[in-house]
Amino acid sequence: MRDLPFESVAKALQALEAISARTQITMTLVNLLRQTPPEVIDKVVYLVQGRLGPEWKEIPELGVGEKYIVKAISIAYGVSEDVVNKSFKATGDLGEVAERFASRAKRGLAGFLGEEKRELSVTRVYEALLKIAYATGEGSRDIKIRTLAGLLTDAKPAEAKYIVRLTEGRLRVGVGDATILDALAIAFGGSVEVRPRVERAYNLRADLGEVAKIVATQGVGGLENVEPQVGIPIRPMLAERGKDAREIMEKVGWRAIAEFKYDGERAQIHKDGDKVTIFSRKLENITHRYPDVAEMARRGIRAERAIVEGEIVAIDPETEDMRPFQELMHRKRKHEIERAAKEVPVKVFLFDALYTDGQDLTVKPLAERRRALEAIVIPLERWEIARYVHVESSEEVDKFFLQAVEEGAEGIMVKAIHDRSVYTAGARGWLWVKYKRDYRSEMIDTVDLVVVGAFYGTGKRGGKLSSLLMAAYDPKEDAFKTVCKMATGFTDEELERMNEMLREKVVSQKPLRVISRMKPDVWVEPYYVAEVLGAELTLSPIHTCGQGAVKEGVGISIRFPRFIRWRDDKRPEDATSEEEIVDMYRRQLKKIEEGEQA
Ligand code: ATP
Repeated sequence: MRDLPFESVAKALQALEAISARTQITMTLVNLLRQTPPEVIDKVVYLVQGRLGPEWKEIPELGVGEKYIVKAISIAYGVSEDVVNKSFKATGDLGEVAERFASRAKRGLAGFLGEEKRELSVTRVYEALLKIAYATGEGSRDIKIRTLAGLLTDAKPAEAKYIVRLTEGRLRVGVGDATILDALAIAFGGSVEVRPRVERAYNLRADLGEVAKIVATQGVGGLENVEPQVGIPIRPMLAERGKDAREIMEKVGWRAIAEFKYDGERAQIHKDGDKVTIFSRKLENITHRYPDVAEMARRGIRAERAIVEGEIVAIDPETEDMRPFQELMHRKRKHEIERAAKEVPVKVFLFDALYTDGQDLTVKPLAERRRALEAIVIPLERWEIARYVHVESSEEVDKFFLQAVEEGAEGIMVKAIHDRSVYTAGARGWLWVKYKRDYRSEMIDTVDLVVVGAFYGTGKRGGKLSSLLMAAYDPKEDAFKTVCKMATGFTDEELERMNEMLREKVVSQKPLRVISRMKPDVWVEPYYVAEVLGAELTLSPIHTCGQGAVKEGVGISIRFPRFIRWRDDKRPEDATSEEEIVDMYRRQLKKIEEGEQA
């Protein structure tokens, strides 16, 4: 099998650390991908993202403790742990420490013994990292230390640095999926114009490594044959927000179905014989949280292999009434699932079918998908098809909306059923329109923002991270741009929990994809998404979101932002986009102007 020297990956990572322009980042990746034999391209893609596979595969996280790494460095380079620790104190970065000792060792020991180092291949590094990640229980400490020391012994200085960073789980580079998609398009399709074709495959089969392998071996043409595969999550289709019934009906073409919009957790349910896997909105494997849903899927789907989608809603065990989304949080604590399953039972409302026994339904219009869904679903006590009606006028939409709210739903989803109403995986569009209660209030909508930094509090909150630097996402640049500093809405309890959460994601330098003028006390790797309610939007010289969109050199910020809740079901890339913030600002401006005229 052909392989790639790990040195090529290390060099690319090194180059990436020094640049920030998106095009340069992309081109560095393109060069790397072009050198990579297709056999190992999946591994290269994972490694540059600091991972060992797609998130949903649930490979245990790398994140080996400092003590182990110090030990491994000491063994690899024949220096005492004291010496390694001293160097660590001086630099504060174990990657650099390893790099330093590796370069001395090269001149010293290896030269002295006349030994050649064995060249490290991508496969060797990847497999060693896997071994480290999977090592648990008795003896795992030794396995981790020895495996790492083994790699370091053969590593060139730059390789040593990145091997340590990967092992620590702190690869700061953090290249986003969007940038990898661009790089794959350029490397194997000749231009970024073919990105939509690469992206389509990725949307249907959310594994960048696999998509890379397909395009590298079969070319862009090979992507056309990509179909959903049971067991690999499909990126969810998303809805636009509608203002009023008329606008909504115009968008969907005046013939549609309107469905209850349930306030629960989205679930993509994959059934393969008796094996059921449930994926969340952000494609995490959440099967362990819902053993009851898995059981219902086993009994309630009349097909050997299928992928269906629905909303899991908490219900009151006494009355069977729907309960708010927050109740599902009880299902998060691993050891309490069984009890939670009893105390907070759930009901599943199914709304789509994406695949059944060899048939890719994502390319079919909704009307056909719904027929397929109805054909395979066997209704059970807490397993049924989402409530819906056919609508052809805005009056019917409004009537159904009121009924839905009355019965405890959040609002409705209006969905186009015409010939072009295919399942647009991973995309937000007007084929689905959400119409929610809160859009009618005067306050601006809540937004979902990403934590990119944090500040220490004073007084009672002294010594604790108590305000957060929040950012919106810009998919064009694959970057996070700041919109506000948020300090209210946290209870003391929440603050404690937040400090714990943040500690895991604090990094020593500004993350590559964050664009900020403000310098927080600590930087936080983009990971956590929070729902935030603001009072209004204003122009801001400090924040970088929407910079230049309204006024040269000036951005947009949210005034009086208030924390509402964590959105664990969203990835940072699912946060409110820069464009949406700019739109909201424009709409607000228009409202004020209209108000003044009236
Ligand atoms: P989005 O998912 O659009 O980014 P969001 O996560 O903030 O936004 P909402 O704005 O509440 O969620 O609307 C979309 C979500 O509504 C879906 O992802 C799904 O979980 C949920 N949902 C509830 N009922 C339905 C339904 N009948 N059809 C589709 N989605 C539904």
